[in-house]
Amino acid sequence: MKYARTFASELKHPDFPSQWVDLAIPYGQLKKCLKKVQKELSDLGLGPDTLSVLLEPSSGSPVLLNYKLDATNPNTLRPQLTVNIHTQDDILVDATLSEETRAFLKTLVASHDLPLGPREETTAEPAPPSSPNLPSASPPIRGAASPGGDAHSHFEVPLIYDGEFFNILLNNVIKLDSLQATQERSMSSEIVALGQDIARLSKPTHLAKNDLERWRAIFGLYLDAGVFFSTREEDHGYRDNGLAARQLTWFRSEMQRLDLARGFRLRGSRVALDRFLRLNVDLLRNLHFQEINKLAVTKILKKFDKRTSLAVSKTFPSTAKSGKLLAGALARDICAQISTELVSVVPQVADYLCPVCFTIAYRPIRLSCQHVFCIRCVVKLQRRLEKHCPLCRSDTVMTASPDNLDPKLQRFMKKYFPKESKEKQKANDLERGTEIYGPGYENTECSVM
Ligand SMILES: [Zn+2]
Ligand SMILES: [Zn+2]
Repeated sequence: MKYARTFASELKHPDFPSQWVDLAIPYGQLKKCLKKVQKELSDLGLGPDTLSVLLEPSSGSPVLLNYKLDATNPNTLRPQLTVNIHTQDDILVDATLSEETRAFLKTLVASHDLPLGPREETTAEPAPPSSPNLPSASPPIRGAASPGGDAHSHFEVPLIYDGEFFNILLNNVIKLDSLQATQERSMSSEIVALGQDIARLSKPTHLAKNDLERWRAIFGLYLDAGVFFSTREEDHGYRDNGLAARQLTWFRSEMQRLDLARGFRLRGSRVALDRFLRLNVDLLRNLHFQEINKLAVTKILKKFDKRTSLAVSKTFPSTAKSGKLLAGALARDICAQISTELVSVVPQVADYLCPVCFTIAYRPIRLSCQHVFCIRCVVKLQRRLEKHCPLCRSDTVMTASPDNLDPKLQRFMKKYFPKESKEKQKANDLERGTEIYGPGYENTECSVM
Protein backbone atom coordinates (compact mmCIF):
# COMPACT_ATOMS: atom_id res chain seq x y z
CA MET A 1 0.00 0.00 0.00
CA LYS A 2 1.17 3.51 -0.71
CA TYR A 3 2.36 5.26 2.40
CA ALA A 4 -0.10 8.17 2.00
CA ARG A 5 -2.97 5.69 2.21
CA THR A 6 -1.42 3.76 5.09
CA PHE A 7 -1.01 6.98 7.05
CA ALA A 8 -4.56 8.11 6.30
CA SER A 9 -5.98 4.79 7.45
CA GLU A 10 -3.85 4.81 10.61
CA LEU A 11 -5.25 8.21 11.50
CA LYS A 12 -8.75 6.72 11.41
CA HIS A 13 -7.91 4.67 14.51
CA PRO A 14 -10.88 4.95 16.91
CA ASP A 15 -8.54 5.89 19.78
CA PHE A 16 -7.58 9.19 18.17
CA PRO A 17 -9.85 12.16 18.93
CA SER A 18 -10.73 14.25 15.90
CA GLN A 19 -8.95 17.29 17.41
CA TRP A 20 -5.74 15.28 17.26
CA VAL A 21 -6.33 14.12 13.71
CA ASP A 22 -6.82 17.76 12.64
CA LEU A 23 -3.26 18.44 13.78
CA ALA A 24 -1.69 15.47 12.00
CA ILE A 25 1.07 15.96 9.43
CA PRO A 26 -0.70 16.98 6.16
CA TYR A 27 1.10 14.36 4.15
CA GLY A 28 -0.99 14.74 0.99
CA GLN A 29 -0.62 18.53 0.96
CA LEU A 30 3.12 18.22 1.42
CA LYS A 31 3.34 15.72 -1.40
CA LYS A 32 1.56 18.13 -3.74
CA CYS A 33 3.82 20.95 -2.65
CA LEU A 34 6.84 18.76 -3.25
CA LYS A 35 5.79 18.41 -6.89
CA LYS A 36 5.91 22.21 -7.19
CA VAL A 37 9.32 22.27 -5.51
CA GLN A 38 10.55 19.78 -8.07
CA LYS A 39 9.22 21.85 -10.95
CA GLU A 40 10.68 25.03 -9.49
CA LEU A 41 14.11 23.43 -9.35
CA SER A 42 13.94 21.77 -12.74
CA ASP A 43 12.87 25.09 -14.31
CA LEU A 44 16.16 26.43 -12.99
CA GLY A 45 18.00 23.51 -14.57
CA LEU A 46 18.50 21.92 -11.17
CA GLY A 47 17.33 18.33 -11.37
CA PRO A 48 18.28 15.94 -8.55
CA ASP A 49 21.34 14.66 -10.41
CA THR A 50 22.70 18.13 -11.12
CA LEU A 51 22.05 19.18 -7.54
CA SER A 52 23.80 16.17 -6.09
CA VAL A 53 26.86 16.86 -8.25
CA LEU A 54 26.94 20.55 -7.45
CA LEU A 55 26.32 20.16 -3.73
CA GLU A 56 29.17 17.73 -3.39
CA PRO A 57 31.45 18.69 -6.25
CA SER A 58 34.55 16.75 -7.05
CA SER A 59 37.75 18.65 -6.39
CA GLY A 60 38.42 21.59 -8.60
CA SER A 61 34.88 22.10 -9.81
CA PRO A 62 34.35 25.76 -10.67
CA VAL A 63 30.78 25.75 -9.33
CA LEU A 64 29.73 25.17 -5.78
CA LEU A 65 26.19 25.03 -4.43
CA ASN A 66 25.24 25.43 -0.84
CA TYR A 67 21.87 24.65 0.67
CA LYS A 68 20.67 25.26 4.17
CA LEU A 69 17.51 25.86 6.15
CA ASP A 70 17.80 29.20 7.84
CA ALA A 71 15.94 29.35 11.16
CA THR A 72 16.88 32.87 12.21
CA ASN A 73 13.26 33.93 12.55
CA PRO A 74 11.29 31.87 15.05
CA ASN A 75 8.57 29.65 13.63
CA THR A 76 9.77 30.07 10.04
CA LEU A 77 12.33 28.27 7.98
CA ARG A 78 13.91 29.92 4.98
CA PRO A 79 15.65 27.59 2.58
CA GLN A 80 18.78 29.22 1.23
CA LEU A 81 20.32 27.95 -1.96
CA THR A 82 23.50 29.82 -2.79
CA VAL A 83 25.82 29.46 -5.75
CA ASN A 84 29.52 30.17 -5.75
CA ILE A 85 31.19 30.39 -9.11
CA HIS A 86 34.83 30.59 -9.89
CA THR A 87 34.38 33.11 -12.67
CA GLN A 88 37.88 32.90 -14.07
CA ASP A 89 37.42 29.38 -15.40
CA ASP A 90 35.79 28.68 -18.67
CA ILE A 91 32.99 26.87 -16.95
CA LEU A 92 30.57 26.80 -19.85
CA VAL A 93 32.71 24.22 -21.58
CA ASP A 94 34.10 22.61 -18.44
CA ALA A 95 34.11 18.85 -18.98
CA THR A 96 33.31 18.13 -15.34
CA LEU A 97 29.93 19.81 -15.67
CA SER A 98 26.92 18.10 -17.12
CA GLU A 99 24.71 19.44 -19.87
CA GLU A 100 22.04 20.19 -17.27
CA THR A 101 24.45 22.16 -15.11
CA ARG A 102 25.55 24.18 -18.08
CA ALA A 103 21.91 24.95 -18.81
CA PHE A 104 21.52 26.19 -15.24
CA LEU A 105 24.64 28.30 -15.58
CA LYS A 106 23.47 29.78 -18.84
CA THR A 107 20.36 30.92 -17.03
CA LEU A 108 22.57 32.53 -14.44
CA VAL A 109 24.77 34.12 -17.08
CA ALA A 110 21.74 35.47 -18.84
CA SER A 111 20.40 37.17 -15.78
CA HIS A 112 23.72 38.52 -14.52
CA ASP A 113 25.90 39.17 -17.52
CA LEU A 114 28.73 37.25 -15.91
CA PRO A 115 32.18 36.72 -17.29
CA LEU A 116 32.03 32.95 -17.22
CA GLY A 117 34.59 32.32 -19.90
CA PRO A 118 38.40 32.58 -20.01
CA ARG A 119 39.66 36.12 -20.16
CA GLU A 120 41.84 35.98 -23.27
CA GLU A 121 40.30 33.75 -25.86
CA THR A 122 36.58 33.46 -25.73
CA THR A 123 35.93 29.96 -26.95
CA ALA A 124 32.92 29.61 -24.75
CA GLU A 125 29.49 29.93 -26.17
CA PRO A 126 28.61 33.57 -25.77
CA ALA A 127 25.78 34.14 -23.38
CA PRO A 128 22.66 35.61 -24.90
CA PRO A 129 22.06 39.18 -23.78
CA SER A 130 18.60 38.52 -22.48
CA SER A 131 17.28 35.39 -20.97
CA PRO A 132 15.07 33.05 -22.93
CA ASN A 133 15.91 30.23 -20.51
CA LEU A 134 14.82 31.93 -17.36
CA PRO A 135 11.29 30.84 -16.52
CA SER A 136 9.07 33.89 -16.63
CA ALA A 137 7.30 32.88 -13.42
CA SER A 138 10.53 32.78 -11.45
CA PRO A 139 11.72 35.86 -9.67
CA PRO A 140 15.13 37.15 -10.71
CA ILE A 141 18.12 35.54 -9.10
CA ARG A 142 19.61 37.80 -6.49
CA GLY A 143 23.31 38.33 -5.94
CA ALA A 144 26.31 39.92 -7.50
CA ALA A 145 29.72 39.20 -8.79
CA SER A 146 32.35 40.21 -6.29
CA PRO A 147 33.57 43.71 -6.92
CA GLY A 148 37.05 44.53 -8.18
CA GLY A 149 37.32 41.68 -10.67
CA ASP A 150 37.58 38.99 -7.97
CA ALA A 151 37.44 35.50 -9.39
CA HIS A 152 34.39 34.48 -7.37
CA SER A 153 30.71 35.26 -7.69
CA HIS A 154 28.09 34.52 -5.11
CA PHE A 155 24.32 34.29 -5.58
CA GLU A 156 21.25 33.25 -3.77
CA VAL A 157 18.65 31.38 -5.79
CA PRO A 158 15.18 32.26 -4.46
CA LEU A 159 12.99 29.23 -3.88
CA ILE A 160 9.33 29.89 -3.29
CA TYR A 161 7.75 26.43 -3.09
CA ASP A 162 10.68 25.06 -1.17
CA GLY A 163 9.95 27.66 1.50
CA GLU A 164 6.27 26.86 1.41
CA PHE A 165 6.96 23.17 1.89
CA PHE A 166 9.09 23.66 4.99
CA ASN A 167 6.77 26.14 6.57
CA ILE A 168 3.78 23.84 6.22
CA LEU A 169 5.84 21.08 7.76
CA LEU A 170 7.33 23.21 10.53
CA ASN A 171 3.95 24.61 11.41
CA ASN A 172 2.52 21.16 11.92
CA VAL A 173 5.48 19.95 13.90
CA ILE A 174 5.04 22.94 16.22
CA LYS A 175 1.34 22.14 16.63
CA LEU A 176 2.09 18.49 17.40
CA ASP A 177 4.75 19.54 19.89
CA SER A 178 2.25 21.69 21.69
CA LEU A 179 -0.38 18.92 21.66
CA GLN A 180 2.19 16.64 23.20
CA ALA A 181 3.06 19.23 25.83
CA THR A 182 -0.61 19.57 26.81
CA GLN A 183 -1.07 15.80 26.99
CA GLU A 184 2.09 15.44 29.04
CA ARG A 185 0.89 18.04 31.52
CA SER A 186 -2.40 16.27 32.07
CA MET A 187 -0.81 12.82 32.39
CA SER A 188 1.78 14.27 34.69
CA SER A 189 -0.73 15.69 37.13
CA GLU A 190 -2.67 12.42 37.08
CA ILE A 191 0.54 10.55 37.95
CA VAL A 192 1.16 12.81 40.94
CA ALA A 193 -2.45 12.52 42.19
CA LEU A 194 -2.58 8.77 41.70
CA GLY A 195 0.80 8.32 43.38
CA GLN A 196 -0.50 10.10 46.47
CA ASP A 197 -3.65 8.00 46.51
CA ILE A 198 -1.83 4.70 46.16
CA ALA A 199 0.71 5.71 48.81
CA ARG A 200 -2.22 6.28 51.16
CA LEU A 201 -3.98 3.03 50.19
CA SER A 202 -0.86 0.94 50.72
CA LYS A 203 0.53 2.61 53.81
CA PRO A 204 0.86 0.18 56.72
CA THR A 205 -0.71 1.56 59.89
CA HIS A 206 -1.61 -0.06 63.18
CA LEU A 207 -5.20 1.01 63.09
CA ALA A 208 -6.60 0.62 59.60
CA LYS A 209 -6.47 -1.99 56.86
CA ASN A 210 -4.24 -1.45 53.86
CA ASP A 211 -3.59 -2.97 50.44
CA LEU A 212 0.20 -2.94 50.65
CA GLU A 213 0.78 -6.56 49.65
CA ARG A 214 -1.66 -6.33 46.77
CA TRP A 215 -0.21 -3.14 45.34
CA ARG A 216 3.27 -4.55 45.71
CA ALA A 217 2.27 -7.60 43.71
CA ILE A 218 0.61 -5.46 41.01
CA PHE A 219 3.55 -3.08 40.64
CA GLY A 220 6.03 -5.95 40.84
CA LEU A 221 4.25 -7.50 37.87
CA TYR A 222 4.13 -4.13 36.12
CA LEU A 223 7.89 -3.75 36.53
CA ASP A 224 8.40 -7.27 35.15
CA ALA A 225 6.24 -6.38 32.15
CA GLY A 226 8.47 -3.37 31.40
CA VAL A 227 5.57 -1.91 29.43
CA PHE A 228 7.22 1.25 28.14
CA PHE A 229 10.78 0.67 29.15
CA SER A 230 12.96 -2.36 29.63
CA THR A 231 15.96 -2.59 31.90
CA ARG A 232 16.82 -6.10 30.78
CA GLU A 233 20.06 -6.47 28.93
CA GLU A 234 18.67 -8.21 25.87
CA ASP A 235 16.12 -5.52 24.98
CA HIS A 236 17.26 -2.46 26.89
CA GLY A 237 15.61 0.90 26.28
CA TYR A 238 12.29 2.40 25.28
CA ARG A 239 9.65 0.29 23.63
CA ASP A 240 7.94 1.33 20.46
CA ASN A 241 4.20 1.59 20.56
CA GLY A 242 3.56 -1.91 19.16
CA LEU A 243 5.74 -3.66 21.73
CA ALA A 244 4.43 -1.49 24.56
CA ALA A 245 0.86 -2.46 23.60
CA ARG A 246 1.78 -6.16 23.69
CA GLN A 247 3.50 -5.80 27.07
CA LEU A 248 0.49 -3.96 28.50
CA THR A 249 -1.80 -6.77 27.28
CA TRP A 250 0.51 -9.30 28.94
CA PHE A 251 0.41 -7.33 32.19
CA ARG A 252 -3.39 -7.25 32.17
CA SER A 253 -3.80 -10.93 31.40
CA GLU A 254 -1.27 -11.92 34.08
CA MET A 255 -3.12 -9.74 36.55
CA GLN A 256 -6.30 -11.56 35.67
CA ARG A 257 -4.64 -14.96 35.88
CA LEU A 258 -3.25 -14.18 39.33
CA ASP A 259 -6.57 -12.64 40.33
CA LEU A 260 -4.86 -9.45 41.48
CA ALA A 261 -7.61 -7.04 40.53
CA ARG A 262 -10.15 -8.52 42.91
CA GLY A 263 -10.42 -8.69 46.66
CA PHE A 264 -8.82 -5.40 47.63
CA ARG A 265 -9.35 -4.56 51.28
CA LEU A 266 -10.06 -0.93 50.51
CA ARG A 267 -12.64 0.20 48.02
CA GLY A 268 -10.44 3.09 46.88
CA SER A 269 -7.86 0.60 45.58
CA ARG A 270 -10.17 -0.70 42.89
CA VAL A 271 -10.81 2.85 41.64
CA ALA A 272 -7.09 3.62 41.75
CA LEU A 273 -6.28 0.50 39.74
CA ASP A 274 -8.75 1.53 37.03
CA ARG A 275 -7.12 4.94 36.92
CA PHE A 276 -3.69 3.37 36.68
CA LEU A 277 -4.77 1.22 33.74
CA ARG A 278 -6.40 4.21 32.04
CA LEU A 279 -3.22 6.20 32.44
CA ASN A 280 -1.26 3.46 30.69
CA VAL A 281 -3.76 3.25 27.86
CA ASP A 282 -3.63 7.03 27.53
CA LEU A 283 0.14 7.09 27.33
CA LEU A 284 0.06 4.30 24.78
CA ARG A 285 -2.44 6.18 22.63
CA ASN A 286 -0.31 9.33 22.76
CA LEU A 287 2.81 7.38 21.87
CA HIS A 288 1.02 5.77 18.96
CA PHE A 289 -0.18 9.11 17.57
CA GLN A 290 3.21 10.77 17.93
CA GLU A 291 4.94 7.77 16.44
CA ILE A 292 2.91 7.68 13.24
CA ASN A 293 3.31 11.43 12.80
CA LYS A 294 7.02 11.23 13.34
CA LEU A 295 7.18 8.52 10.72
CA ALA A 296 5.17 10.71 8.31
CA VAL A 297 7.78 13.46 8.76
CA THR A 298 10.59 11.01 8.10
CA LYS A 299 8.85 9.65 5.00
CA ILE A 300 8.10 13.04 3.45
CA LEU A 301 11.66 14.24 4.09
CA LYS A 302 13.02 11.11 2.49
CA LYS A 303 10.81 11.67 -0.53
CA PHE A 304 11.99 15.27 -0.65
CA ASP A 305 15.62 14.16 -0.66
CA LYS A 306 15.01 11.57 -3.35
CA ARG A 307 13.41 14.12 -5.64
CA THR A 308 15.77 17.02 -4.97
CA SER A 309 19.04 15.66 -3.52
CA LEU A 310 18.95 18.51 -1.00
CA ALA A 311 19.61 16.17 1.96
CA VAL A 312 17.09 17.67 4.38
CA SER A 313 16.41 14.40 6.25
CA LYS A 314 19.49 15.10 8.31
CA THR A 315 19.11 18.84 8.76
CA PHE A 316 15.39 19.44 9.19
CA PRO A 317 14.93 17.66 12.55
CA SER A 318 17.70 19.65 14.23
CA THR A 319 16.78 22.94 12.55
CA ALA A 320 13.10 22.60 13.47
CA LYS A 321 14.13 22.31 17.14
CA SER A 322 11.22 20.02 17.90
CA GLY A 323 11.76 19.21 21.55
CA LYS A 324 8.83 16.80 21.65
CA LEU A 325 7.64 15.08 18.49
CA LEU A 326 10.93 14.59 16.69
CA ALA A 327 12.89 14.13 19.90
CA GLY A 328 10.58 11.26 20.93
CA ALA A 329 10.59 12.65 24.47
CA LEU A 330 7.12 11.48 25.51
CA ALA A 331 8.05 7.92 26.45
CA ARG A 332 11.20 9.01 28.23
CA ASP A 333 9.63 11.75 30.35
CA ILE A 334 6.34 10.13 31.28
CA CYS A 335 7.82 6.67 31.92
CA ALA A 336 10.43 8.18 34.18
CA GLN A 337 7.69 9.93 36.09
CA ILE A 338 5.55 6.79 36.36
CA SER A 339 8.48 5.00 37.86
CA THR A 340 9.68 7.73 40.26
CA GLU A 341 6.38 9.17 41.42
CA LEU A 342 3.94 6.30 41.11
CA VAL A 343 5.34 2.78 41.10
CA SER A 344 8.01 3.62 43.68
CA VAL A 345 5.46 4.73 46.30
CA VAL A 346 5.05 1.02 47.00
CA PRO A 347 8.51 -0.20 48.03
CA GLN A 348 9.69 -3.44 46.43
CA VAL A 349 11.89 -5.79 48.41
CA ALA A 350 14.32 -5.95 45.47
CA ASP A 351 15.36 -2.39 46.33
CA TYR A 352 16.25 -3.31 49.91
CA LEU A 353 18.43 -6.36 49.42
CA CYS A 354 21.85 -6.80 50.97
CA PRO A 355 24.29 -6.77 48.04
CA VAL A 356 26.24 -9.68 49.52
CA CYS A 357 23.60 -12.27 50.46
CA PHE A 358 20.72 -10.98 48.27
CA THR A 359 18.12 -11.27 51.00
CA ILE A 360 16.54 -8.26 52.68
CA ALA A 361 19.20 -6.19 54.42
CA TYR A 362 17.34 -6.43 57.68
CA ARG A 363 19.20 -5.10 60.63
CA PRO A 364 20.79 -2.76 58.15
CA ILE A 365 24.35 -1.63 58.82
CA ARG A 366 25.28 1.56 57.04
CA LEU A 367 29.04 1.74 56.58
CA SER A 368 30.70 5.14 56.64
CA CYS A 369 30.83 5.02 52.83
CA GLN A 370 26.99 4.98 53.05
CA HIS A 371 26.60 1.48 51.59
CA VAL A 372 24.14 -0.74 53.42
CA PHE A 373 24.53 -4.45 54.23
CA CYS A 374 22.80 -6.80 56.57
CA ILE A 375 24.43 -7.18 59.98
CA ARG A 376 25.34 -10.85 59.41
CA CYS A 377 27.28 -10.09 56.26
CA VAL A 378 29.22 -7.27 57.95
CA VAL A 379 30.08 -9.53 60.89
CA LYS A 380 31.33 -12.20 58.49
CA LEU A 381 33.43 -9.70 56.56
CA GLN A 382 35.00 -8.49 59.79
CA ARG A 383 35.79 -12.02 60.91
CA ARG A 384 37.55 -12.66 57.63
CA LEU A 385 39.38 -9.33 58.11
CA GLU A 386 38.09 -8.10 54.77
CA LYS A 387 38.35 -4.40 55.35
CA HIS A 388 37.08 -3.09 52.02
CA CYS A 389 33.44 -2.34 51.26
CA PRO A 390 32.28 -4.91 48.65
CA LEU A 391 30.63 -2.13 46.61
CA CYS A 392 33.09 0.77 46.59
CA ARG A 393 36.26 -0.85 47.96
CA SER A 394 36.76 1.89 50.53
CA ASP A 395 38.32 0.95 53.85
CA THR A 396 35.12 1.06 55.94
CA VAL A 397 34.31 -2.48 57.10
CA MET A 398 36.53 -2.90 60.18
CA THR A 399 35.42 0.36 61.80
CA ALA A 400 31.73 -0.62 61.67
CA SER A 401 30.12 -1.16 65.08
CA PRO A 402 26.54 -1.47 66.41
CA ASP A 403 26.47 2.30 66.10
CA ASN A 404 26.30 1.86 62.34
CA LEU A 405 22.86 0.31 62.56
CA ASP A 406 20.45 2.54 60.63
CA PRO A 407 17.42 2.68 62.95
CA LYS A 408 15.25 4.68 60.58
CA LEU A 409 15.80 2.21 57.75
CA GLN A 410 15.25 -0.67 60.15
CA ARG A 411 11.87 0.75 61.20
CA PHE A 412 10.95 1.29 57.58
CA MET A 413 11.80 -2.32 56.65
CA LYS A 414 9.87 -3.69 59.60
CA LYS A 415 6.89 -1.60 58.61
CA TYR A 416 6.87 -2.23 54.86
CA PHE A 417 8.34 -5.74 54.79
CA PRO A 418 7.16 -7.30 58.02
CA LYS A 419 7.21 -10.87 56.68
CA GLU A 420 10.64 -10.65 55.06
CA SER A 421 12.16 -8.87 58.07
CA LYS A 422 10.85 -11.48 60.46
CA GLU A 423 12.18 -14.34 58.32
CA LYS A 424 15.56 -12.69 58.05
CA GLN A 425 15.73 -12.16 61.80
CA LYS A 426 14.89 -15.81 62.34
CA ALA A 427 17.60 -16.90 59.92
CA ASN A 428 20.14 -14.61 61.61
CA ASP A 429 19.27 -16.03 65.03
CA LEU A 430 19.56 -19.57 63.77
CA GLU A 431 22.94 -18.89 62.24
CA ARG A 432 24.26 -17.25 65.40
CA GLY A 433 22.86 -20.03 67.59
CA THR A 434 24.53 -22.66 65.42
CA GLU A 435 27.83 -20.84 65.75
CA ILE A 436 27.56 -20.82 69.55
CA TYR A 437 25.89 -24.16 70.29
CA GLY A 438 26.95 -26.24 67.31
CA PRO A 439 25.16 -27.66 64.27
CA GLY A 440 22.40 -29.31 66.37
CA TYR A 441 21.01 -25.91 67.36
CA GLU A 442 17.45 -25.26 66.28
CA ASN A 443 15.73 -22.01 66.89
CA THR A 444 12.22 -23.35 67.37
CA GLU A 445 10.71 -21.95 70.52
CA CYS A 446 12.96 -19.11 71.50
CA SER A 447 11.50 -15.69 71.11
CA VAL A 448 12.59 -13.47 68.29
CA MET A 449 13.30 -9.87 69.00
ZN1 LIG B 1 23.74 -9.86 53.72
ZN1 LIG C 1 30.95 1.38 50.11
